[in-house]
Amino acid sequence: MTPNYPKKILVGIEDYFKKEKERLVKRLAQIDESDPFLDPDHANDNADIGIDVREEMAHQHYEANRNQLKKRLAEIDEVLERIDKGNYGVCKECGKMIDTDRLSSNPLATLCIDCAKK
Ligand SMILES: [Zn+2]
Repeated sequence: MTPNYPKKILVGIEDYFKKEKERLVKRLAQIDESDPFLDPDHANDNADIGIDVREEMAHQHYEANRNQLKKRLAEIDEVLERIDKGNYGVCKECGKMIDTDRLSSNPLATLCIDCAKK
């Protein structure tokens, strides 16, 4: 049997990341709303080059934010899935238990310290 984390701890972690996920999904929706490139009027108002440049910069800013959020969401999804499957805290590479100190400082870690160093 694979060693595992006490259910009590896992439930806490799962709860935390489910909330975090909700927060990120909301944040992502907010970003989508404020991205000028997604404004349906955007294509029609390109008369002013200054506005275009500002929109382009704003868009890139949103794009970077969005990518960051999506990356984090993917990591959270992976962890939630691992909790679900019962292999949370097990290294993806070598199958050993990830050090609890490492996990408490980075609960999203999916590699043990040795494999992460490689
Ligand atoms: Zn490992």
